This record gives sequence, structure tokens and C-alpha cells, in this order.
Amino acid sequence: MTRVARLDTDVRYIKGVGEKRAALMAKLGIRTLGELVRHYPRAYEDRTVFMRVGELKPGDAACVRATVTAEPVLRHVRAGLDILTFTVADDSGAMGVVFFNQPFVKDSIAPGRAYTLYGKVAGTPRRPEMQNPVIEQGTAQGRGALTGAIVPVYALTAGISHNAMAGAVRQGLILCGDELPDALPKGVRERHGLAHARFSYENIHFPADFEALEIARRRLIFEELFTLSVSMKMMRDGRAARAGIAFDCADAEGFFSALPFVPTRAQRRAVAQAAEDMSSGRAMNRLVQGDVGSGKTVVAAACCYLAWRSGRQSAMMAPTELLAEQHYRSLTGIFGPMGVKTGLLTGGMRARSRRETLEMLARGDIDVIIGTHALIGQGVNFHSLALVITDEQHRFGVRQRSELTAKGECAHVLVMSATPIPRTLALMIYGDLDVSVVDEMPPGRERVDTFAVGERYRERIYEFVRKLTGQGRQVYIVCPAVDEPEEGGDALKAAADWARELAEDVFTDRRVALVHGKMKARAREAVMSQFREGGIDILVATTVIEVGVDVPNAALIIVENADRFGLSQLHQLRGRVGRGEHKSYCVLFEGAGGEAARERLRVMTQYSDGFKISEQDLALRGPGDFFGSRQHGLPDLKIASLVSDMDTLETAQGAARAVVEDDPGLERPENAALARSVSDMFARVSGDDGVLS
Ligand code: ADP
Ligand code: MG
Repeated sequence: MTRVARLDTDVRYIKGVGEKRAALMAKLGIRTLGELVRHYPRAYEDRTVFMRVGELKPGDAACVRATVTAEPVLRHVRAGLDILTFTVADDSGAMGVVFFNQPFVKDSIAPGRAYTLYGKVAGTPRRPEMQNPVIEQGTAQGRGALTGAIVPVYALTAGISHNAMAGAVRQGLILCGDELPDALPKGVRERHGLAHARFSYENIHFPADFEALEIARRRLIFEELFTLSVSMKMMRDGRAARAGIAFDCADAEGFFSALPFVPTRAQRRAVAQAAEDMSSGRAMNRLVQGDVGSGKTVVAAACCYLAWRSGRQSAMMAPTELLAEQHYRSLTGIFGPMGVKTGLLTGGMRARSRRETLEMLARGDIDVIIGTHALIGQGVNFHSLALVITDEQHRFGVRQRSELTAKGECAHVLVMSATPIPRTLALMIYGDLDVSVVDEMPPGRERVDTFAVGERYRERIYEFVRKLTGQGRQVYIVCPAVDEPEEGGDALKAAADWARELAEDVFTDRRVALVHGKMKARAREAVMSQFREGGIDILVATTVIEVGVDVPNAALIIVENADRFGLSQLHQLRGRVGRGEHKSYCVLFEGAGGEAARERLRVMTQYSDGFKISEQDLALRGPGDFFGSRQHGLPDLKIASLVSDMDTLETAQGAARAVVEDDPGLERPENAALARSVSDMFARVSGDDGVLS
């Protein structure tokens, strides 16, 4: 038989997969044979243990080979209940077999014939029984399709059974058997003692035994991490070791002296490191990492100042309009008096001011532009862009950073992030970036006292709100949703309703306002500036305020349904207070999350260090959630884990480095399959997600 199927052949090519089943499979991300054979089992059922009937005890799960002793009996008990019973026996004893509501099984059971059955043993030790077992004809000892084997358990969707999925995968493997390309170059595979592609795909689905399964897994995990590493390395090499515009000014004192406070040593150090990069003649690629509130904006602004002193433009990209607006405001406050011209570019702007801004930018009439991902849009042209900054980098895809950088020739790159990530992962995402750590808080910061409380504390908390606002402080109240409560119903505090209720019934003598991401930019900015100026006592908000928002007079943040938020997110939210001289507090209403939620929230009351919290988050939630692609802009991985497969990741990165250094364009024939896998992977690297509004 000639095999015409290829990896990109449509799944409908498989017998038994028509339009309907193909549509169901598409829901699982399976459209081609390649995607089908990479739909790895999520678990396995061990059906390799054979027992003699006489040895069976209730509770065992095992295979038995036995002969049907007499004609099966089918009883129609009532509508919706058919019971088929028969007995099987081997030379050690007899066992009852019962099938509920599967009358058709009767047709395939013949007295005197031997079958292999797999199931959980019920009944009594003297009279064991299996209910609805897996049954396969045959007497030969060993491996069948459903018994005597390690059987895959797949992620399914309604309408596709396990057997159908396993059958389709089996056919897929046969059809494109020799087509399965080996993305691992031979040399790499051999050096690391990894199995062939075909062996691995076959055994990850239908393992010959547990050892084969392990060998297959090891190879596929390596392959995935290797391909990812190669992708990231190639993406990085596109901009690494580039020449950079050498700034002639590396002295930020003029900027520091214009600040209303004294910069911390950590801020100075980060600026000095960046200044050295930017005057070196090579392009800067630097990550500034520092916990929420450590004052990263000052570092960024100092770099913009240096660009300006060197006669160049800089651009700063923030993940939300709110944050962009805030940066614009605070930088304008510092830069205005110095004569540095600032501009703002967001998606929510009016066409006219947008056009004006774009013109000024292209003419060089704006020195520092602050914006959202609107900055990487078409039609945004710079006069002399030499420095690109992304704030809260973890909110952007890897690709977005490169796109902004591409707007300038030889632009320096500074990325800022409050999310502490493990070193290997940082290497993967940020690659060749140098790292500055801002590990010191501005002076006078006290720990934010944090409480996780249930409903019965609500009145007391409200008293506290009255007291603080009476003293002139301001308060955030954060809700999980804007309006229509999602599933979960009434208990969810939807921001809009909640703001109304609080204003009308609870805090009647306080000024309550609402801000959320679905508001028009203008309205939102009006509320924020009112809040900033102290014209609002209580701001009810969605998570739009999560990143970056900076109002030092705010001394209390209350989070409703805190169980709905991740710990790192709560840490970010808590970072909205404790930014000034006032003692600050964070109250987390537990919501309906139960004991597990309470356990999680306890982490917040115990730790104030972002790194500790994310460690705990990782431990509690598991890697899947924590490193969802949103967090880092990497593609979802199908088999490898960026947490538990760390060691493999390091090895794979080493191998990737060697291969790409040797063949930078992956043009050699032995790297052809790898090149294809890499371009698939590129396509999956997140483009525009991670931007919240
Ligand atoms: P983040 O690192 O979270 O981005 P910000 O840059 O928003 O932090 O700074 C947090 C707050 O601390 C801001 O109000 C900022 O003005 C203030 N701040 C920054 N540096 C200092 C400093 N050296 N001394 C006092 N306050 C500072
Ligand atoms: Mg910030």
C-alpha cells in the first residue's frame, strides 16, 4: 500500500472521521494528521496485569482470560434497564459477568469460546464478578488492542469516545508512519541518547511497556523544549549583538536632581548599568526586575532622559491605557520643566489627536512617547527612535517587544517586569537580556497589613473605610467583573452594581466612583485624575488598576471575591497601596472559594515579598495555570512542563545553541524537519494576547 497521507493531511482522510467527527476534533485543536498524532494521552490505564480467576479479589483491576461457559442471558427488566449476564471460567474458578444496557454485547458472545476481559472486580471472593468489563476475543496470551496493554486515556470532547479517538490515532500513526519527520537532527538525537521519532510517537500512544513509554516521553519532551529553544534563540539572534547608537550622555544627575525625592541606590545602580550599555556602541538589551512599588518607572524615565540629552527619541509601551495615561502624566510632570516633550498614543484616542501625535512623532517634535500596543501599529513612524521600553513586560508577547524595537534603527531595549520568574525560564523568555535588579524599596515604606476575612467582618471593614476616608485617605474596592455576573451568580460582586449600591446604601456621605476597562478612555481618565487629586474617596474598580496605578494617598485596598484571583495578581493589586507615607492595609474578602481558597489567601497575609508569593503560587496552583501563555508570551507546550522539566530544558537549550550557531538559518538538509517545526512553533508564539484593556 502506498502511503499518500502526510502530516498536514486533513483528519477526514481517516476512515470513520467524517464532517461531524472532524468538527469535534477541531475543538480539541486537531485538524491534521500531524495534530492528531501529537494529541498525546493525558494519562494511561495499566491493563497489563493478568490474573487467574481463582486469584481475583473484589477491588482488583485486572485482565483475565477465560471461556464463556453457557449461553448469555438477556433480561429486559424495565424501560431503560437491560441486564446481560453470563459466566466465564478458567481452570482455577468461575466469574460472573454483567453488562448493563449493552444488549448488543450478546451477539458477540459465544459459549465455549475464550475471551480476555479487563475490569474492576466486584462480587465476593468466592463469586467474583465484573460489571461492564472491556472484553476482547482471543485466547493468545498477551497484548490486544484493549486488553493486556497500557491503554491511553485522551482528553476528549462530547461526541468522541475513547475508542474512537484511540482508533483514529492508531490509523493516523499507520498512515503517516514513515512521514513522521524527525525534528531532532540525528546528531542531537544520538548525543543525548534519544529514541527515534516514529518509535516515540507510537509508544507515547500505545506503549509496548512502561519502559518504552518512558523512553518515548523523554524524547518528546526533549524535542519540544529543544524546538522551543531553537525558536527563541533564532528570534533573539535577529536582534542580538546588534550595533546600537552610542549615546553621548551617560550622566543622569540632571534628571535625578529634578525628582521630588532622592533615588534609591538600587535605582541609581540600574540607571548606571543602562547608561553604560547605551553609550557602549552596542545595542542595550536589559531587563529591570523589581517588586511592585520598587520604583522602576524612575529607571525608565532616566533612560529616556539620556536619550533626549543625546538628541534621540524614546518610546515606552505599557500594557493598559490606564497605565500609559499615568506614565504620561507623571513623566510629563518631570520632563515638562526640563523642556523634554512628551506625547501619548493609545488605541482609545480620537482620530484627530492621534493624527497630530503621529505627525509630531515623525517630525521629531516629541522626544518621549508613551503608549499602549498602539505604538506598534501601522503608520507609527519615528524620527530618531533610539530607545524602546516595555513596562510590565510579562503582559506582552515576545513578539510585540521585537515589533516595537523594529521601529527604530539600532534601538536600545529596556524591559521592566515585576514578575519574578525562575532563572531558566527568564533565560528562555528574555534570552540574552542583561538583568538589573531593583531590590530596594523607597524609604519609609511599611509593610501593607493584610487580612483575609469572611462576610461577617463586612460591617467592621466598612467602619474602617469610614475611619480612613475620614482621615483623608483613599480606598480601592476591587471586584472581579464589570457588570453581568458570570456564572457563579449573585455572590460575585460586579463592579458597576456594587459601586451603585455602596454609593446609595453604604457610604452615602462619601464620594464613590467607578472605573473599569470597558469605559471610554476619556471617561476613565477623568475618574482617575479625580481620584489622583483626592476628589474621590472610594474607587470601585475592576482589575484595570492591577498594574502600575500609582496614587500614594490610597491606604486601603479591599478585594471582593479574592478567591477568584491568582496570588501574583493579588500581590499586584496590593501594590496599589503602601506607595506613600501612610500606613496601608489590604483586605481580602474570601468569597465562596472554600478551604482551598482560604489556604491560598493565607499566603498573602504571611508574605509581602513578590518572589516568595509567586513561589507559593506555583506550588499551590501547579505550573499549568501559573505559566499560562498569557504570563510569558510563549506557546503552550503539549508535553513538556516548564517547571518539572527544568533540567531537560537546560540541556535542550545547550543543544539548541550549538545547532543554531552551526547553522543559523537552519538551511542544511539535516535540519529541514527542525526548520518546519520551528516555523510551526513561531506561529504559536503569542502575537497579540496579554494586552488587557
Ligand atoms: P513600580 O516599580 O511598581 O513600577 P513605581 O515606579 O510606580 O513602582 O513607583 C512607586 C512609587 O514610589 C511612585 O509613587 C514613585 O513616585 C515612588 N518612588 C519611586 N522612587 C522613589 C524614591 N527613590 N523615593 C521615594 N519615592 C519613590
Ligand atoms: Mg510600574
